This record gives sequence, C-alpha cells and structure tokens, in this order.
Amino acid sequence: MGPPGRLRWRYYSASPRACYHRGALPNDDCLLCRIASGRAGVPLLYEDDLVVAFDIPEGQPWRQAPVHFLVIPKEHIPSAREAEARHELALGRLVTAAAKVAKGMGISESGYRLASNTGDDAGQTEFHIHLHCLGGRKLGPKG
Ligand code: ZN
Repeated sequence: MGPPGRLRWRYYSASPRACYHRGALPNDDCLLCRIASGRAGVPLLYEDDLVVAFDIPEGQPWRQAPVHFLVIPKEHIPSAREAEARHELALGRLVTAAAKVAKGMGISESGYRLASNTGDDAGQTEFHIHLHCLGGRKLGPKG
C-alpha cells in the first residue's frame, strides 16, 4: 500500500466514528481492520456485509493515479497466502465491489487496474489483504 510505517494514516484518527463493524472481530493492531470497522474515521466509498472500499487521499505519496481506492474484506485475512476456501465469497466480492465503485467514479468505460500485492517481493506493507483500484489516466505496464 505504500512506504512502510504506521503513522501515515494517523491523522484520520482525529475524527473517530462509532464502530459499526458487523463481521469478524476486528484486530486492533491492524490499520485496515480499524478502517473496515469505522474506528479509524476514514470515509468509506462503499460498504456491504463483507467488504468496504475507501479512497487514498489526494496528496498522499502512495496515491498512484487520479482514482486510487482500496477494497478490503471486513475479516482480517493477512494476504493471499492465508486465504482459504471459506474466504472465497469475501475475496470475490472485492472484485465486484471494486467494479461498482469504479463505475460510480466514472472510470468503468475508460478502464482501470485491479492489483493486490502478496509478501515482501511484491511490496506488501499492510498485512490485511487489499485490492487496489487505479484509474483516471493511461496506466503503463509498470504503473
Ligand atoms: Zn486486519
């Protein structure tokens, strides 16, 4: 999701919201669990019973395109390595939810990239599986 470090989202905690988490128990040590449960105060672009989507704020250095949002399962799944058959509904929902949000953002026709990193060689820095959706400009083969 970007450079290492746990402070980059901290400013969000200035506006905490009530917890509306309805899925598995959130993991307090995981930033993305806190976002999924609403406890990080991050505005959500989309929410259903299994997943949420949220925007990477303008001006953040790891934002890589005019449209760049993440879709994550509410359940804590560290990465594809830990995915099991029982997660298939939530993991499939990442794609269909991303498509809905992309349509809402007006990039459905122009196109977008869905990507998920697993492990160190791929640059995964948040160990709660997440699907990046990038669009709003021509994306090259490497970004
Ligand atoms: Zn988590």
